[in-house]
Amino acid sequence: MTENIPAPSALLPAVQGNNKNVIVIGGGVTGVVTAWELQRAGYKVFLVESKSLGNGSSSRSAAAIRAQFSTPSTVRGMKFCEEFYEAWTTMMKSEESPISQNGYLFLYGYSCNKKALLGRVEMQQQAGLSEVRWLEPSEIEEKFPYLETTGVIGATWYPKDGFLYPHLIYQDGAEAARALGAEVIQNDGVASATVTDGNVVEVTLRSGRKIPADYVVNAANSWAPDVSNIFGGVILPIANRRRYLYFLNGLKDQGEDFGLMAEDFATLPMIITPNGGYCRPDNKQLMMGWLQFTEPVKPDFDEQDLIEPGFSANDMTGYGAAVRKEIGAYLLAASEVGRMDAVTSGYYADTPDHNPLIGHDPNVGNLIHVCGFSGHGLMHAPFSARIVSEILAAGKDLATICLGDYGEVDLTPYRINREFHCAEGMVI
Ligand SMILES: Cc1cc2nc3c(=O)[nH]c(=O)nc-3n(C[C@H](O)[C@H](O)[C@H](O)COP(=O)(O)OP(=O)(O)OC[C@H]3O[C@@H](n4cnc5c(N)ncnc54)[C@H](O)[C@@H]3O)c2cc1C
Repeated sequence: MTENIPAPSALLPAVQGNNKNVIVIGGGVTGVVTAWELQRAGYKVFLVESKSLGNGSSSRSAAAIRAQFSTPSTVRGMKFCEEFYEAWTTMMKSEESPISQNGYLFLYGYSCNKKALLGRVEMQQQAGLSEVRWLEPSEIEEKFPYLETTGVIGATWYPKDGFLYPHLIYQDGAEAARALGAEVIQNDGVASATVTDGNVVEVTLRSGRKIPADYVVNAANSWAPDVSNIFGGVILPIANRRRYLYFLNGLKDQGEDFGLMAEDFATLPMIITPNGGYCRPDNKQLMMGWLQFTEPVKPDFDEQDLIEPGFSANDMTGYGAAVRKEIGAYLLAASEVGRMDAVTSGYYADTPDHNPLIGHDPNVGNLIHVCGFSGHGLMHAPFSARIVSEILAAGKDLATICLGDYGEVDLTPYRINREFHCAEGMVI
């Protein structure tokens, strides 16, 4: 049993039943945490998953979590998420913690503006990350002797960032929601709906089962546009792009000649290279990823694991080799030792600015979308669930909410009908 860390002070109080049915569609991390939050807020929740829990991107993710973001609101929201996951075993009454806080190390090269990066660190400190700091190359070498810093002007480092274990979140989270009274329905997707006077009144599942609805939450991420369509909802601007993760075996025991001791391996932080390559430990393997240009695809349950030509783990001139080369330029052991063991794939449900879509559907009054998470959905889930809970209770979208001690957060970047301007720089 892990330590009993108290729930974040900003957690909303549990409320007695209000007899309103909420149907949450999608049994990934977003749907599960939202189901728990809403059941706890007193609603009668039906969590409906087409296949089994974790069928979508939640089980195919790099699962990293960071509070190092570029706007104060997102920093506060993500700090809340990290503390939510830290307190998970207490809140969910489960055995295992779903978070490893090995830290996040963003390396920056000479094309970066150091003054602007120092300004961002200061903003993050003011937004609540007291331990975030800038590291000069000499400090990087001292703290992480296995890293090569040629071409690096410095790094930002926050020790409370890290990575998650998604299966613990969707399995134990669903169990906790069930214990509070939610019904978790698997292998039975939402197929059709009755919408009267602009509100959903009933949802019909593939099996023919009908569930009366007071509210519907669309947490189907890549499939959210199809789900919205079932209800006559708005066209959601989500484009699905295939992303790959590569797994390198052998570094744990063979990295010593390159400064990477066996005992360092388990505590390796999430390392992000100046060009956006990233890696972290995953049991005995090193998980590696990067962001390649890719055309959108139509999401298909059965094609999530498809590996396109040129992306296999053992193609010596393919994308996997390029990912390894990018990581190996900084973590030398990764280029010199070990063997590429595996590659996995999954969908990023991208919006034009890489921020999610969270809010009421403009056409269907009691339909709330919480989707389009690009590369952030796992880390964002507690914050997403909290936003859904607050706007559902308010009956309308809100410009801001107060996250207790964390401070006020701006919700306008997530509005469904926003104009898309700039993108959150990194999507890892
Ligand atoms: C390679 C890769 C790396 C990533 N790295 C990170 C990372 O480091 N950190 C991070 O936070 N995020 C990361 N992400 C993104 C993250 O995994 C997703 O944003 C997150 O898992 C989305 O969770 P979700 O619950 O919203 O959606 P999903 O997990 O995709 O769940 C949606 C669910 O809806 C169900 N569904 C669809 N249609 C219906 C229907 N009609 N009825 C009922 N159910 C339906 C599906 O079966 C599916 O289970 C990564 C993703 C990939 C692919």
